[in-house]
Amino acid sequence: MQYVYRFGGGVSDGGAGDRNLLGGKGANLAEMASIGLPVPPGFTISTEMCTRYYEDGSAFPESLKAEVAAGIAHIEGITDKVFGDAANPLLVSVRSGARASMPGMMDTVLNLGLNDQTVEGLAEGSGDARFAWDSYRRFIQMYSDVVLELDHGAFEEALEIAKEDHGYSLDTELSADDLKALVTTYKGLVEQQWGKPFPQDVHEQLWGAVGAVFGSWQSERAKVYRRLNDIPADWGTAVNVQAMVFGNMGDTSATGVAFTRDPSKGDRAYYGEFLINAQGEDVVAGIRTPQYLTKAAREEAGAKAASMEEAMPDVYGQLAKVFDLLETHYRDMQDIEFTVQEGKLWMLQTRSGKRTAKAALKIAVDMANEGLIDQKEAILRVDPLALDQLLHPTLDPDAPRDVIAKGLPASPGAASGIVVFDAETAEQRAERGDSVILVRVETSPEDIHGMHAARGILTARGGMTSHAAVVARGMGRPCVSGAGTLAIEGKAKRMRVAGREFKEGDVITIDGSTGEVMAGEVATVQPELAGDFGTLMEWADAGRRLKVRANAETPLDCKTARDFGAEGVGLCRTEHMFFEAGRITAVRQMILAEKEAGRRAALDKLLPEQRADFAAIFEIMAGLPVTIRLLDPPLHEFLPHEETEFAEVAQASGISVEALKQRASELHEFNPMLGHRGCRLGVTYPEIYEMQARAIFEAAVEVAEKTGEAPIPEVMIPLVATARELELMKAVVDAAANAVFEEKGRALDYLVGTMIELPRAALKAGDIAEVGEFFSFGTNDLTQTTLGVSRDDAARFLGVYVEKGIYAKDPFVSLDTDGVGELIEIAAERGRKTRPGIKLGICGEHGGDPASIAFCEQTGLDYVSASPYRVPIARLAAAQAAL
Ligand code: PEP
Ligand code: MG
Repeated sequence: MQYVYRFGGGVSDGGAGDRNLLGGKGANLAEMASIGLPVPPGFTISTEMCTRYYEDGSAFPESLKAEVAAGIAHIEGITDKVFGDAANPLLVSVRSGARASMPGMMDTVLNLGLNDQTVEGLAEGSGDARFAWDSYRRFIQMYSDVVLELDHGAFEEALEIAKEDHGYSLDTELSADDLKALVTTYKGLVEQQWGKPFPQDVHEQLWGAVGAVFGSWQSERAKVYRRLNDIPADWGTAVNVQAMVFGNMGDTSATGVAFTRDPSKGDRAYYGEFLINAQGEDVVAGIRTPQYLTKAAREEAGAKAASMEEAMPDVYGQLAKVFDLLETHYRDMQDIEFTVQEGKLWMLQTRSGKRTAKAALKIAVDMANEGLIDQKEAILRVDPLALDQLLHPTLDPDAPRDVIAKGLPASPGAASGIVVFDAETAEQRAERGDSVILVRVETSPEDIHGMHAARGILTARGGMTSHAAVVARGMGRPCVSGAGTLAIEGKAKRMRVAGREFKEGDVITIDGSTGEVMAGEVATVQPELAGDFGTLMEWADAGRRLKVRANAETPLDCKTARDFGAEGVGLCRTEHMFFEAGRITAVRQMILAEKEAGRRAALDKLLPEQRADFAAIFEIMAGLPVTIRLLDPPLHEFLPHEETEFAEVAQASGISVEALKQRASELHEFNPMLGHRGCRLGVTYPEIYEMQARAIFEAAVEVAEKTGEAPIPEVMIPLVATARELELMKAVVDAAANAVFEEKGRALDYLVGTMIELPRAALKAGDIAEVGEFFSFGTNDLTQTTLGVSRDDAARFLGVYVEKGIYAKDPFVSLDTDGVGELIEIAAERGRKTRPGIKLGICGEHGGDPASIAFCEQTGLDYVSASPYRVPIARLAAAQAAL
């Protein structure tokens, strides 16, 4: 079995297609080397080795030694340096590289191969003792942290003390001798903490680092990141060992990261940051605030420090050519790491760049318009779920703002919330329902759970490409980074800015699109849905087969849904209309009435209200189908609880409070989800469904006359298990329709159908379709009843089920296509057999989930119905499923 793959110096054992085997970084290094870009030579140890390493109890097979030795020999041959040689030492970097990019989540070791002898050789060979000792001290620091897992803070502290002792403010002011002394201090720290001297054998160093990188696949932060991003634990990471190039060899050296387009807004402009005389980690770790790549970006930001375009025009020119070449080659926006060593450009990484939803849309549409990709590809390029970021409100430009600081617009969107200063508190407060802004000096990958829990992230240090920014963008959290005027005292849980103090719990607002930080809450406005969003949606609409409807019952929701492109209402839950103020007493009166006459008296009060509700919906949805579901929920959900509530109902129905309470206790159910709900209400109290049907048809005729456009009501009966139930309920609806049409002298088309929410209904769909004119799969209940898992109680244990791989995802979020899916297929097939062309839809929460939508496409359903804000997501997902 081959585990080691070489690249560089005219050799490429792999290429971009080998991402699964070599990880993203390894595959792209091999690819860049093969298209002639300047890549320092190296080799990749495959992800298969990672899997085997864990299978074998964190051990390497004997055969790997020879392969790694050959890999080192490959690098030595090209660089003309020798690993561990005192006079002419080869130094390497050891980096992780998973299949899916996990920025900053796993470990890296740089400058490996330095020891007390080789450092002298490096000083001699480079003619730069300062550089050699700086590299050595960096190496010891990183190795101690990553491989030996010693206390990182002690090393940072020693560095700070060394600077203080000499009155320096920058690392770069430390001389060769200062650094030499620091190395001695560091070695002392290692011995003190580890109990052994710092390893001098370069091979021991290498194997230690390789083991640590493989080990970091199972670190807590990597696990959290995988969970949040649905990355399977068995993919493993590859390890890349590569000749070091140095960005810290003086003022003609530099290191940087860049995007070929703006990852935040998507504009077609190179976007990046770099630092002169520094190593790569300095840029991404957000320790020094970096300089801009282009003159235009520097000017726009009003920054003083020269851009790379100005400071190093030649190398910048080469870099710009590489950007264009890489974009054309990969046909996507690239995220690049580079180093300049004494004026020579080296490429260290390229990958498809993470981007905000806004940028993803713009880049997809622009690239299609530029002819780099076709429209189909553009549709596939945008993650439907990411659209959510664009559909939510942004700050009202006219609202007053009390701006207290300005940082970098690192991830767009606006968020208001209480200030918290650590990830743990962010998580705790968010769990309690608070909207939280996580404020940190700089974030480290350990903060990821807090970033996820927070509505927004604010940091005092770091650039646009620091980990905080990259991770926030990936999560869709608004983020302002590098707000340098904030004086944050994390331990004391306060920050000072512009002469004011903010404590934990104070409210602030951040605008990740402008970088502004404001005291208090700021009003928001609805987003703009034209432009690139409109274009991509147009392309998606042309490419999809599934119709997309909305679950909506209020005029506002219906309007939002229609604005978002809904092609009708797939589920109007009429019980939601009953909760409205002023109605609830009549509803309670209806429920608690012992006799039909009492119920009818209450229903008479509700009829005009329901009619008005339906009329409003029909008007908004003019010309489109509207599926109205008759009353569904367990009656006890409406029961009064407070004394005053009982008193109100008692008065309205003219009976005593005691009698009412007695009746309420009679209605108590042990398992209401499987109790007296759904069509069981209609079967026992047909007058309820009769009133609702009457309200629907009266409203439909009224709107038809008023607007000249007849609505198409689809009356839906919930929780049906048998054809007979549906037959009885359809008779009630038809009778109401006929009565209304007769009274009004005008008939309209309508359908009566059923939800398929019970396994029996799915199995007996053939019989049910004799009566029902359409089916809508209520996959919330169908999941509950098929899995035998209560919708209301599942959260307590389903997390463990997902963790243990019993279900790949929460089956109430993403359809259990294996089990529940099979019932849907059976029902669709049997329903169609009885009634060819029967209209089939889905209206459970799954109707807005891209993976479930793909299943609906495969099964040939006619439409999905999702909550209003999910309608655009469903439109795009439906198009992707059809392509
Ligand atoms: C369903 O069960 O999937 C459904 C849409 O109905 P509800 O969620 O109202 O029970
Ligand atoms: Mg249901």
